[in-house]
Amino acid sequence: MFKLNPQLYEKIKHFAKFPQTGVSLRQMVMFGQKPSPATFFKASQFLHEELPIRLAHRVKELDELPRSLGDMPSIIKVKNWYAQSFQELIELPPPEITSELKASFRDAAKNSQSLPQSTPNLAIPQSKPTGKYYPTIGHRYYNNFENIKCTPPILSYTDSFVKAIENVKRRHDPVVTTMAQGIMEYKQHRKTSMIDADVQQFLDRFYMSRIGIRMLIGQHSALYRGPFMRNYVGVICTRTNIKDIAQDAIANARFICEDHYGLFRAPEVKMFCPGDIEFMYVPSHLNHMVFELLKNSLRAVVERFGPDYEDEYPPIKLVIAHGKEDITIKISDEGGGLPRSGIPVVWTYMYTTAQAQELEPEFNKSEFKAPMAGFGYGLPISRLYARYFGGDLKLISMEGYGTDAYLHLNRLSNSDEPLIM
Ligand code: ADP
Ligand code: MG
Repeated sequence: MFKLNPQLYEKIKHFAKFPQTGVSLRQMVMFGQKPSPATFFKASQFLHEELPIRLAHRVKELDELPRSLGDMPSIIKVKNWYAQSFQELIELPPPEITSELKASFRDAAKNSQSLPQSTPNLAIPQSKPTGKYYPTIGHRYYNNFENIKCTPPILSYTDSFVKAIENVKRRHDPVVTTMAQGIMEYKQHRKTSMIDADVQQFLDRFYMSRIGIRMLIGQHSALYRGPFMRNYVGVICTRTNIKDIAQDAIANARFICEDHYGLFRAPEVKMFCPGDIEFMYVPSHLNHMVFELLKNSLRAVVERFGPDYEDEYPPIKLVIAHGKEDITIKISDEGGGLPRSGIPVVWTYMYTTAQAQELEPEFNKSEFKAPMAGFGYGLPISRLYARYFGGDLKLISMEGYGTDAYLHLNRLSNSDEPLIM
């Protein structure tokens, strides 16, 4: 098993001194619209530098946690995964313009009428890490090579790079469940049932960073491998249809609800949507958030009215509003609501009023998909997804009546990634 050693930790501390570079949704779309081999090369350069910086920040933070948390076996396990991925990435040869590559650029340039005959200066700053590649994407040097269809050295480098980062992503699949396990170990160790504000903030930062890292890797690998669908740039859909996604989430959540509570025990969900609203977003993120909110509302209604109510449950309303700045989805239920003092608590990780679920790393493997309820991750993780692209998630409740959840999504999609540390 891989273990973090002092030598490696020195390197990690060095990388952690550099700031992380945020990438907005719009930047990702602009960059990936017509990916050419040169695009992948440029993106590899950025990721080869940015991913180790982001991983290093996490290792350092995990290492500096208070001992009562940082020494928990599952937390150490997670830290070692981050350190191992860091090491793998920095050991990977950097994407450099070698003389071989230069020659193939030159050949391609000669063979193409539309390209300049002279070889531009291909010097790339080697001092690292600088964190400045992404903003210069579309740089003229690379634009000169947009028409190159096949340069073998680039293709083989791109291919091995994609494989390496996909391997990192796979290693980190069980991070959420393993961290949750670590928090349980911490609670047992401290003989407490709640986590304190520091731990909560640490987890917000940690999972937010995970969303960002997975987005960067997922986007790069989707641009490379496909599937190549209309209106998609990697995992981003430039014309995400809210109504379609909401319909899907409704069907899935009601299915899970019936599966859990029994046949006909899923309240109806009524959707109000002014026409077809399309905007740029990551459909899987949107689906996840709406699905989690609906499951909560369905559960609240079923549990309030009991099993004999069947199809007389008061319906849940899903309202979509389309503003200049935001698209907002409101989900209203008559599930009895929560006391006002209970609202801050629902955002804490692992807080649930449902029967706690077994943590099954295999089941929960890649994403944050939870069962009907009981994991206590639905709300806090959905809020992170919303904030990741400049949106937010809020809960307003009328105790004794029901709850309204407001999911705000930023339409301008040019807000920077929130990189707190
Ligand atoms: P889980 O659903 O696994 O319990 P969540 O983070 O989704 O975790 O929700 C945490 C808790 O917040 C729930 O257990 C429930 O007590 C409360 N809650 C969330 N949404 C609602 C709602 N619409 N009505 C009443 N209580 C809710
Ligand atoms: Mg839930």
